[in-house]
Amino acid sequence: METLWAPWRMAYIDRVTDSQPSAECIFCRALGAGDRESLVVHRGALSLVMLNRFPYNPGHLMVAPRSHGGDLAALDADELVDVVDQLQLATRVLRSEMGCDGFNGGWNQGRVAGAGIDTHLHFHLVPRWSGDTNFMPVLAEVKVVPEHLDTTWEKLSGAFAAASAG
Ligand SMILES: [Zn+2]
Repeated sequence: METLWAPWRMAYIDRVTDSQPSAECIFCRALGAGDRESLVVHRGALSLVMLNRFPYNPGHLMVAPRSHGGDLAALDADELVDVVDQLQLATRVLRSEMGCDGFNGGWNQGRVAGAGIDTHLHFHLVPRWSGDTNFMPVLAEVKVVPEHLDTTWEKLSGAFAAASAG
């Protein structure tokens, strides 16, 4: 049985994201940019939900507080509640829209823990399907994701809007 939670893969995803041409913080940039271009699927009062540009699985989301900072201990109570609210909403949306069977979630805090973007705290939420480990490469660090990001964005941003309104 393969291990389903693979934090070193998360570290890889963060590093890939961080090696993009812009050194600017992607979460802060998304606050002032359009939803589609920045892959934002939902904006909470104190946090935002984005698709990971280099997903581990289709629908791989990141939830980040709006405030720029890399330390969970520095978040205030309202920010903590809003982040967890978005994580909860995200599990509902991913389950209903993508039919996933489970989730992996977590965060990397600090360079030493593998965070590529260590200056702006963010949580990963990865939907999982029964049998999806069958398609994970054993040695390669790159995984082919069978759904285009734009398609996932269309599906999830609409679903988040509906779910948060109701
Ligand atoms: Zn930031």
